[in-house]
Amino acid sequence: MNAITPFDRSKARFPIPEVATSFINGASVGAAGGHRIPVISPATEELISELREADADEVAAAVAAARNAFDKGPWPRMSVDERKKIMLQIKDVLMKHADELAYLETMNAGLAVTHVRGFHVPRMGFNFEFFAEVASQAAGDAYTQTKPYLSIVTREPIGVGALIGPWNAPLALCSMKIASCIAFGNTCVLKPSEFTPLSLRRVVELINTTDIPKGVVNLVNGRGQTTGDALVSHPGVDVVSFTGGTTTGRAIASRAGQGLKPVALELGGKSANIITATANMERALDGSLLGIYSNNGQQCLAGSRILLDRKIADSFVAKFVERSKKIIVGDPLEQKTNIGPLAYEGHMKRVLSYVDIAKQDGAELLTGGAAHPGFNKGYYMQPTAVMAKSNAARVCQEEIFGPFATFLVYDDIDEAIAIANQSDFGLVGYVWSEHLPTAMKVSQNVRAGTIWVNTPLTRELRAPFGGYKHSGIGRDSAEDCKMFFTEAKTTTIPLEDFPMAKWGA
Ligand code: NDP
Repeated sequence: MNAITPFDRSKARFPIPEVATSFINGASVGAAGGHRIPVISPATEELISELREADADEVAAAVAAARNAFDKGPWPRMSVDERKKIMLQIKDVLMKHADELAYLETMNAGLAVTHVRGFHVPRMGFNFEFFAEVASQAAGDAYTQTKPYLSIVTREPIGVGALIGPWNAPLALCSMKIASCIAFGNTCVLKPSEFTPLSLRRVVELINTTDIPKGVVNLVNGRGQTTGDALVSHPGVDVVSFTGGTTTGRAIASRAGQGLKPVALELGGKSANIITATANMERALDGSLLGIYSNNGQQCLAGSRILLDRKIADSFVAKFVERSKKIIVGDPLEQKTNIGPLAYEGHMKRVLSYVDIAKQDGAELLTGGAAHPGFNKGYYMQPTAVMAKSNAARVCQEEIFGPFATFLVYDDIDEAIAIANQSDFGLVGYVWSEHLPTAMKVSQNVRAGTIWVNTPLTRELRAPFGGYKHSGIGRDSAEDCKMFFTEAKTTTIPLEDFPMAKWGA
């Protein structure tokens, strides 16, 4: 490990806070005291900030602010049109600071700035616009079948949401959580990953410069085991929305279960990317490289198990390796960079450890397999690919979460589908084929929440997104988020007098 060096603040393109604190009831918590955690730039290993951890008392203060804003404040009681106006103010203020937010994300998470500015930041803005629209169009139900009654079903906000997110795409993922939670009249406390507090700290500060009432959007910073656990366990929290690893998801679900709180879990993946002999090979190659290497390879929906029809396997692998070697690994602030550093040192070591694990299971290293030789600082690794011997190998079963592709070869499409399904995960699946029945067979038979046919990584916010099996519980979409973040209330009224028993008359 290199020594952590101090950061020269005069070279920062936008201000970076010296201490990332919590933000509660419309105000920043002071920087004094508290347990400190270094915030390191993964590109340069400089100490760019410090995180001041929220202890249980601070978490309780954040929940109290959200509780008060929900129980007594105007937000849940406003008309949807008033709320929509504020949601659009939020979108505007965030997009006005698009370059600053992209910079903070890149400095902290190591994601390539072109990717963050081009995809994550617009998605963040769109999340607020989209859920403002969804909430404004949401309607209830009415039942008239049982005479003489009219039963109406209205949906009410569920209360205070605990929103917990990972480090791999903080802006894109957590903005969706905030927007989908508050759009329906709820209030929230967000806990970002301890590794990436900077962009979201600024987002919550900016949200609180709009007309949103104090206490609707709060943030606590700290480690999962301390701050996160205190938040999930707090009796003032009504609902928990979590995105992160499967092991953490289990712990959170069981903690939330003790309080009978509904939980939505977006967890890991080990998704199959099936390349058939009838694929448009050029597009399949482009899509497969993006599917595994974009976002520095750190994405739940990566196509990390690439299954090749034996007839095209050798030529596909040769082209994939050739292209992998030419991918630009570099400073994430550079416009030309394709892949930046991994998010933190421990994570890079974990990803690289899979090179030996692969070899122990008999895999052949096709390309990469080591830290990138071009850098003496930062957590850069070479785009890596291995050919596995069987789907039982650990590199086929465990989520590696880095620029690390695993190939397998199959002989017919039924075998490919069987391999795809031999996994504890079931988040997404990809298939490349110009033959419609083959593509549809994969789509109908692979057990995963989303199947992409001849396209990588396309998110349609209106449609459900979420995982089968150990990839999660629940879905994100307009309708699913409405169901998750609201309670249904049935009110029954007789439309005329009806004979009623007269006990004691
Ligand atoms: P983790 O599960 O380690 O952490 C996710 C969040 O949970 C962090 O904020 C973490 O805090 C917090 N946390 C950890 N332990 C607890 C606890 N006991 N109680 C409450 N909160 C806790 O995931 P990573 O951050 O490492 O993210 C990578 C994982 O996220 C991958 O497995 C990936 O597949 C998954 N992911 C899933 C997505 C999906 O949509 N399905 C999308 C993106 C990522 P801290 O980090 O501060 O300890």
